[in-house]
Amino acid sequence: MVHPATPAWKWPAALAAALLAGALLDWLADGRVAAGVALVAVAEVVLLLTRSRHQIRTMMAATSPVSPLQHDRFMTRTRRIASSLRDLRSAASQLPDAVVLLDQQQQIRWFNHAAENLLGLRRPRDRGVRLHERMAPSDLAGWLQDGAREPLNDIAAPGQPGSQLHVSLLPFGRRQHLLLARDISHLNRLEQIRRDFVANVSHELRTPLTVIHGYLELIDPADVPGLAPVLDEMRAQSKRMGQIVEDLLTLSRLETQHDVADERVPMAALLATVRKEAEALSQGRHTITLESTAEADLLGSPKDLHSALSNLVSNAVRYTSTGGSIAIRWQRTPQGAVYSVSDTGFGIPATHLARLTERFYRVSSSRSRDSGGTGLGLSIVKHVLNLHQAQLQIQSTPGVGSTFACHFGKARLLAPGGSDDH
Ligand code: ADP
Repeated sequence: MVHPATPAWKWPAALAAALLAGALLDWLADGRVAAGVALVAVAEVVLLLTRSRHQIRTMMAATSPVSPLQHDRFMTRTRRIASSLRDLRSAASQLPDAVVLLDQQQQIRWFNHAAENLLGLRRPRDRGVRLHERMAPSDLAGWLQDGAREPLNDIAAPGQPGSQLHVSLLPFGRRQHLLLARDISHLNRLEQIRRDFVANVSHELRTPLTVIHGYLELIDPADVPGLAPVLDEMRAQSKRMGQIVEDLLTLSRLETQHDVADERVPMAALLATVRKEAEALSQGRHTITLESTAEADLLGSPKDLHSALSNLVSNAVRYTSTGGSIAIRWQRTPQGAVYSVSDTGFGIPATHLARLTERFYRVSSSRSRDSGGTGLGLSIVKHVLNLHQAQLQIQSTPGVGSTFACHFGKARLLAPGGSDDH
């Protein structure tokens, strides 16, 4: 006789139910990790139950006699399994994010209501269809076909024109996947309002500041000797405010930009300029060296790259004591080329490194202010590098010095001079 299937579903089901409950709460609090874990658990249970259904069918078809007691127990268990499955499915189907369960062949096995709205999936039409084929032609389809290693942000929702999605693919079980898609249109709108606000405020402040600065420049300290120190301070502060406004406007522009003009940026000339600027700022207080062996020009925005590369040099000068040295390098790497600035300055404790490129983030506010910083320099550097598909790498040891390195890919390199071979 065939024995009733052992309740292998019981523990995963209980675990999934607990995780799902946690995830639903967590979802409300905007958590992601627990929700993902719970959904994977749900998916596991759904598959387990689907597998045990086969065993149940076999048992139902068994010809050997089953005692009434065994039959009753078996029916009770079957009802419980069915009810657990219903609960889990209905909970998952009510999630605000789209959830799609994919098998080994990337075929759709199950999806919730949000997936119908956001991804345009339809039941029963799309069951068993390969998701990337259903989504083609779209960025989402391309991403799925390329292996979907990193989450995809800001893509148009196929089922809801005007909405944007954040999509991730979680592997589980035996090469199955769970696709999660979240509607981020509301977040994007808030982000846009923030950007517009900053840009508008900066723009509005620009004119009055220019006027104030202009009048301050007109006053000769010799005419008001008693106020000379005050006048100096007012000029320095109005200049600083002007610089902050300019940097905020630059950031606003960079944030709204999605690509850059592909112009040749002659590196020999740019490196010479950056070095001259460093020497002017240092006023002979540091030893500044330049080593250029990359033999490559860059492809991108000359103005923005100049701003980013000189920002790093200006920081090196401002955060290195008199007598220190600064090395500017432009070298080849297996992946492309790297522009780096090393200094023997104050250095940065490791706990600050991850946050350095945030707006107004400073390790020491007084040191930054005293050296004329706005707190926006590295933020601008990061945005400019992003637009050039380059990465910023920071290494620093407090009391020893820092190295800020910009890694450019081969696609951004040009042979110096005329020909455009990469
Ligand atoms: P700031 O205008 O304040 O220099 P940045 O965005 O350029 O703003 O830099 C952020 C912070 O990173 C600085 O305030 C400083 O604390 C730290 N920093 C940047 N470059 C260096 C460096 N070369 N050495 C030490 N600290 C640095």
